[in-house]
Amino acid sequence: MTSDTSIKKTHDAFFHTACSELDYKDDIFQLLLVANREIRLELPLRKDDGSLVVYNAYRVQHNNTRGPYKGGLRYHPCVTMEDARGLACLMSLKTSLMDIPLGGAKGGIDCDPSSLSDRELEKLTRKFTMKIHRNIGPNIDIPAPDIGTDARVMAWIQNEYSKIYGHTPAVVTGKPVVLGGSEGREEATGRGVSIIMQEYSRHNALSLAGKTAVIQGYGNVGSNTARILNSMGVHIIAVSDSRGGAFNPSGLDLEKVDANRRKYGTVAGTEETESIDNKTLLALVCDYLIPAALGHVIDETNAGEIRAGVIVEAANSPVTHEAHEILNDRGIHVLPDILVNAGGVVVSYFEWVQNLQQFSWPVETIQLRLQEKLQTAAKKVFTMVDAEKTTYRCAAYKVATERLKEAFFATGF
Ligand code: GLU
Repeated sequence: MTSDTSIKKTHDAFFHTACSELDYKDDIFQLLLVANREIRLELPLRKDDGSLVVYNAYRVQHNNTRGPYKGGLRYHPCVTMEDARGLACLMSLKTSLMDIPLGGAKGGIDCDPSSLSDRELEKLTRKFTMKIHRNIGPNIDIPAPDIGTDARVMAWIQNEYSKIYGHTPAVVTGKPVVLGGSEGREEATGRGVSIIMQEYSRHNALSLAGKTAVIQGYGNVGSNTARILNSMGVHIIAVSDSRGGAFNPSGLDLEKVDANRRKYGTVAGTEETESIDNKTLLALVCDYLIPAALGHVIDETNAGEIRAGVIVEAANSPVTHEAHEILNDRGIHVLPDILVNAGGVVVSYFEWVQNLQQFSWPVETIQLRLQEKLQTAAKKVFTMVDAEKTTYRCAAYKVATERLKEAFFATGF
């Protein structure tokens, strides 16, 4: 994170703008903002070398009016309760914008997974599950992968949870397909990013093919986005990860990037590319800049240097509130996280439904239904942007907040 502001502060500011445009009174804003429940846990772990380390873990369950709490679990040294609060509320808005019957949550463990052995990671995950099992479940709260976690971590949670409650695949999503995971879940966020970019192009009578894109972050989301955009004719001119970046103004050969990453654990040093640091990469001239890693990578210190036409938020909260204002003044469109990266949670929803039905759908069905969900949400947002001359973020927040508020009031509060 490059900014001192918390993700919660950024989110609160965006949410406040949307609620003001909706003419909500301050008490309604506060009511929708505050989380239902916050859980903090201490997880002592005996490491392989015999030493004892205590990790902090968090889960914020923001809102379950529209369905069980839903959201990722991240393993990263920057995980805090404060950021989890902002990200959990963001999830409630994301599920609401997608019109799927789920609420919002987020959590994590403040650990560096790269410094832990597989054995230690598994032990830590099982310990976390043992401590939180009463507060999660198919009708309560359904974790999923996020930064630093993957299908393997979900499998450990499912396994530990099932020891207590019996076979329960629907307790997590994003698990391995062999354990009840959904086809198409792993690439879902990246596919969703591409679908939203396609819709944006269509809405503005532009063609996506032939355009250039820069992607910061080459994990699950970044690499799948690159692959799918490339298959649509977009030239990916630069990608990066925490160890550096690769740049080729005529377009990267993604097979070479992937081969380099498999061999050396980074995209930096890929043949036929120039190396580039993350700061320079963010300032490259391109049609689409896609931050796909951590939050707050674009703040007031670098927003003035951005030379992309459009910013596509594949990560959660990559642009601070101050940066958003600067970019808006400069005429740079920002397509917001709750729309752009919602493909992940939409296919998580499909996975949960398949688990509850004890029946699985083919990948073609998943892709088609994902496309329908995203297109419907995008059309609503883009139509509001045109009609009300507001930002993409504000329109997305407004659609989501109205739906959430309506449900909240319908419960009889
Ligand atoms: N971690 C993803 C997100 O932030 C997916 C959440 C989920 O599938 O529950 O949207």
